[in-house]
Amino acid sequence: MAETSVEKTQILQKYLELEQRGRIIAEYVWIDGTGNLRSKGRTLKKKILSIDQLPEWNFDGSSTNQAPGHDSDIYLKPVAYYPDPFRRGDNIVVLAACYNNDGTPNKFNHRHEAAKLFAAHKDAEIWFGLEQEYTLFDMYDNVYGWPKGGFPAPQGPYYCGVGAGKVYARDLIEAHYRACLYAGLELSGINAEVMPSQWEFQVGPCTGIELGDQLWMARYLLHRVAEEFGIKISFHPKPLKGDWNGAGCHTNVSTKEMRKPGGMKYIEQAIEKLSKRHAEHIKLYGSDNDMRLTGRHETASMTAFSSGVANRGSSIRIPRSVAKEGYGYFEDRRPASNIDPYLVTGIMCETVCGAIDNADMTKEFERESS
Ligand code: ADP
Ligand code: MN
Ligand code: MN
Ligand code: MN
Repeated sequence: MAETSVEKTQILQKYLELEQRGRIIAEYVWIDGTGNLRSKGRTLKKKILSIDQLPEWNFDGSSTNQAPGHDSDIYLKPVAYYPDPFRRGDNIVVLAACYNNDGTPNKFNHRHEAAKLFAAHKDAEIWFGLEQEYTLFDMYDNVYGWPKGGFPAPQGPYYCGVGAGKVYARDLIEAHYRACLYAGLELSGINAEVMPSQWEFQVGPCTGIELGDQLWMARYLLHRVAEEFGIKISFHPKPLKGDWNGAGCHTNVSTKEMRKPGGMKYIEQAIEKLSKRHAEHIKLYGSDNDMRLTGRHETASMTAFSSGVANRGSSIRIPRSVAKEGYGYFEDRRPASNIDPYLVTGIMCETVCGAIDNADMTKEFERESS
C-alpha cells in the first residue's frame, strides 16, 4: 500500500499511461452562481475538430445557486475548447455558457449579452488585454508564505521580486504559465506584484468575446494547478486591510482606428465617452471595489472619473509610449480582480463603439441580483 505521496504518484502514473482506446475526455467548465468555477468530465467517442462537434450537456443548477430545486436543469452550451494540460493527448477542456430550461441565458451568463455587442461591432476589431491580479492563501486561510501571526517587511522589494524572501510560490506560477501556453491561451506575460504572495498574469490581446473566454479558462487552470500545490487562489480586490496593495484587473483596450497612426484622436474620443458613464461602468467593475479604489496604492477615486498620460492614480491611463507615438491603446485601471470579464469588455464595447437595440450591459447587474 502506498504511504508517501511519491509512492501514490508512482501508482497513479501507471493508470495515466493506459490507452484510452480512441475515446477522449472533455472536461466541461462553467461559471457558477457565485463567480466561482465548476467542471465535470465526460467521455466522447472521437477526437473533436470543431466546436459544433461538442454536444450540449446539463447539470443540477440547484447545487450551484443557479436554479430552483423544482426546475433545476441548467444547460451547458459549449463556446470554446482548448487542449487539456492535465490529461493531455486529445483530451480537452471545454468552456460552456449556461442556459435555462426555456432557452434564456442563466442569470450569471453575461457572455450572451456581450457577444451580441461584439457581433454588431465586428468591424471595429476591438482588442482587449487584461491584467489579472490575484492573491495566494494557504489551507488555513493565511496569506501564503507569510510569517505565522505576523507580517512580512513592508512593500517595496516584492514587485517583480527576485530572491528568497522576496518572492513566493514561483513553482506554482511557472506551472500555471506553462499550462496556459499548452492550452493555447494568449498569455502575454506574468509578474510578481507589490504585495508579497500577490501575482499577475496578462491575457491578450484578444479580439472581442474571446478575451472573456480565455480569461475564464486561465482562471480555471490557475485553480486546478493551485489545487495540486495545496494553495487557495483569491480574486478579492482587497484581501488584506492596511498598507497592502489591493488586486485589480486593468483592462487595456484598442480599436482598429486607435492602432493606426493618428489613432490618439480616437483614444481621446473613447475617454470622453467613458467620462460620461463612470457610474454605469463602476457598477460592473467588481464587488468590494470600494475597498480598493481609495485613491491610494496606485488607484483612482471610486466616485470621480480622471484620465492622464502615464498616471497610475487615474481611472484611465494612456501609456507613455502610446502618447509618444500618437496611437495604440488605453488602460482602464478601475476594474477589480473579481470582475466577470464579459461584463467589463461588454460595457466597454457598448460605450466606445455605440449602444445597440437588442443588448444593454447596464441591465446585466439587475438580472444577476434578481
Ligand atoms: P502595465 O504596464 O499596466 O503593468 P502590462 O504589461 O501588465 O501593463 O499589460 C498590458 C496589457 O495590454 C497586455 O495584456 C497586452 O497584451 C495588452 N495590450 C498591448 N497592446 C494592446 C492593444 N493594442 N490593445 C489592447 N491591449 C493591448
Ligand atoms: Mn501589469
Ligand atoms: Mn499589476
Ligand atoms: Mn496595468
